[in-house]
Amino acid sequence: MGQELKESITTLLEFYKEFGFDRLPLNLSQKTENRKQKTEDRDSEIQGFKEEALNALREEIGDCQRCRLSKERTHIVFGEGNVNSKIMFIGEAPGRDEDIQGRPFVGEAGQILTSLINKMGEASGLNFTRKDVYIANIVKCRPPGNRDPQEDEMSVCSPFLERQVEIISPEVIMALGRISAYTLLDVQGPISKFSITKARGRFYEYKGIPVMPTFHPAYFLRNPKDKSLTWADAQAVLKKIGLKG
Ligand code: SF4
Repeated sequence: MGQELKESITTLLEFYKEFGFDRLPLNLSQKTENRKQKTEDRDSEIQGFKEEALNALREEIGDCQRCRLSKERTHIVFGEGNVNSKIMFIGEAPGRDEDIQGRPFVGEAGQILTSLINKMGEASGLNFTRKDVYIANIVKCRPPGNRDPQEDEMSVCSPFLERQVEIISPEVIMALGRISAYTLLDVQGPISKFSITKARGRFYEYKGIPVMPTFHPAYFLRNPKDKSLTWADAQAVLKKIGLKG
């Protein structure tokens, strides 16, 4: 501590002592409250900006006919969740239930994803749940018969996701499944050669954001024993943002 600062503090303490105080009359709990309120106000302001930007993007997508997936879809599945979330989950495409409801991951695979998110929330000690994170897909319309989205469809649709990611600015992304991981990681070579089993378990980057590729939740409908691998990936994601895993 500098001499000048020491002298100032001594003078201040003496001043208060003369008036009968035995310590500085600071209301620290009030200060902490004020700081907390300021952070909450700032978060809700940011949330407002993000929601406005996402609404504008949704309007721009409109009744999109930009690729052939528009022909058989019922609903565009834009994505949903907390726009201030630190974690974003990205799958490949809506399935039958998602197409009907217009929401991501609401079928059987969605239930597995919801359990994973809830388990992460519990492990982190923050008890966050599905509504507290953001979920989207590489393409926003269901490929007929749940086939894989094709490369031209992904390249037309993924710029919308790119802008969603920019708006939400998560601290970390979990890429769910081979196609999501292949697209986000900008892998060289054909998708047929890309293996999620080999890629999962370590971080890559998408626009400067760490990305953890892992299995698609639907994979566990046939291979439940591999859930422990995705749980290990999820724990690494929590640690990446400073939470308990
Ligand atoms: S998948 Fe994307 S680009 Fe294709 S029609 Fe749907 S919203 Fe438009």
